[in-house]
Amino acid sequence: MLVCDMQVIDTLAFTQQADSSLQKAWHFGCTGRSLEALTLAGEILADARARGDDRLAARCDTDIAWYCFQTGKAELGLTHVRRAVDFWKSTGEPAEEAYARAYFGWLLLEMGLPEEAIEEATRALDLADRIADPKAQSLATNVIGIIFWYNKQPDRAILMSERSVELARSIGDKTYECWWLVNLGGAHSEGGYIAQALGQPEEGRRMLTRALELTDQALDLAIELGDSWAARICLGNNADYYSHLGEHDKAVRCMERYQLFQENSYVRDRQQFLYTLGQIYNNHGKFEEARSVLIEAMESIGEGGSFDSYIQIYFYLSQAHEGLGQFDLALEAHKKYHQAYLQNSAERTQQRARLAEIYYETKRLKEVAETEAKRADTLEASYQKLQEETDILANAVYLDALTGLYNRKYLDSRFKELTSEKRPYSIAMLDVDHFKSVNDNFSHMIGDQVLSAIGTILRKQLRITDQAIRFGGEEFVVLLAGTPRGAADVCERLRTAVEQWNWSEICNGLRVTISIGVAGTLSANSPTEILASADQNLYTAKKTGRNRVVA
Ligand code: GH3
Ligand code: MG
Ligand code: MG
Repeated sequence: MLVCDMQVIDTLAFTQQADSSLQKAWHFGCTGRSLEALTLAGEILADARARGDDRLAARCDTDIAWYCFQTGKAELGLTHVRRAVDFWKSTGEPAEEAYARAYFGWLLLEMGLPEEAIEEATRALDLADRIADPKAQSLATNVIGIIFWYNKQPDRAILMSERSVELARSIGDKTYECWWLVNLGGAHSEGGYIAQALGQPEEGRRMLTRALELTDQALDLAIELGDSWAARICLGNNADYYSHLGEHDKAVRCMERYQLFQENSYVRDRQQFLYTLGQIYNNHGKFEEARSVLIEAMESIGEGGSFDSYIQIYFYLSQAHEGLGQFDLALEAHKKYHQAYLQNSAERTQQRARLAEIYYETKRLKEVAETEAKRADTLEASYQKLQEETDILANAVYLDALTGLYNRKYLDSRFKELTSEKRPYSIAMLDVDHFKSVNDNFSHMIGDQVLSAIGTILRKQLRITDQAIRFGGEEFVVLLAGTPRGAADVCERLRTAVEQWNWSEICNGLRVTISIGVAGTLSANSPTEILASADQNLYTAKKTGRNRVVA
């Protein structure tokens, strides 16, 4: 009992501790300490896994995905959030699933898979809408906005981003408000760049100015929250916007402020700062300054970073050298730029292929499982139908259309089987008496009706073990289980049934009788011999007055 209680307390304590640690990690993530957030969440995840706490692990996976995004490790983030999505889906928790799916979509976009991204983001929004969770709605709407932004549809991007900011404000979530404002600014800048490219400088200026305002709002919030990650993004973006507006000094000033938020930044982030600054100096014609910061950036390549960053560094460095008239150095930098570009494309392609594979594999597996289940059902149904049809067809081959009895073909196939039959059986040969006169006196049609009625009588009278065959014309064969003695009794019943049948229903004054010869395995060995023997007995029956059975 004591041990039990101790375990309960232990688990509870662990969960509480994990909760507060996860919150601490989130706080790191919201205050520009993304690497620490990543490390801490990773530790909690390892513990959760070791304890088999899948819920906690899934929460970690979702958060880690975000820290991965912040630190430029999109591919790693995807592997985490994918697991989270699957888990929350399996437990049927739409809110958690919505968050995980939204981040999943964001990372997919980051990896260059926009179609998959939009699918996840819209599913996230669906889930969030269904449970009317404004925070999840805010996140999902924001991701959809970014997808539009990346796909150069600024109008839609602005609409969605505005909505996401409103939702964040409605719940007083300043962190989300700040982040989504950055994206709303980005959407406006895209509109501005497009307007500039279309030769609408006024509209371009208006949009870029709005982008700057929105980003400034985000910056104020970032500073208030102590979110240096967001602050860096705001200042980098604004520097870019100013540079596009030709306001180089302001752009440089943004980058100077950017430096104030460099605490806890990482290699990729520092490189990003340096090449953005280099780009701004280049645009400004300050090639000496540009070369200086870009060489610093180039020297940091040994510390890490990505091909994506190297591309920018070498590209702007090449521009700076060119601006300084150092064409050999420009060419050298350009070659490196080209090399990094190729490596980056190759790496991206590989990553995308890997991810697409994981993504499609999981999706495909689910689809395959679902369609297989459906297919199995329809297959079963169609197989049954086919079986039935085959049976009908097979039977049709062996059936006589007029009487509904088996036909001669069937008798042939049965004879083959009967050759090796060990149990006793008998064969009866039936023939309608004076059938020619039925045809003659009543018509051929009535004759047919008589044959049909005999078919009915035989089917009715025969045991399940016996089979009636229309041998041809007005002659029938009946295969009967057992010895001729038993068979003769059955035949006598048949004879009586035919004789007593209400033939006047078919035609007034019509009377029909049959003669039967029976033989069995006692009198002969092969079915053909037995049949011949039965036929012999039938002949006897006919000769001795008809309407009788001879065994
Ligand atoms: P018995 O008592 O000796 O058997 O005399 P029977 O008239 O029945 O014998 P027979 O073999 O001379 O005549 C058989 C007649 O059956 C001849 C043929 O026209 C008729 N018949 C054969 N097949 C059909 C059929 O499908 N429909 C009709 N209506 N008549 C048929
Ligand atoms: Mg006949
Ligand atoms: Mg006859």
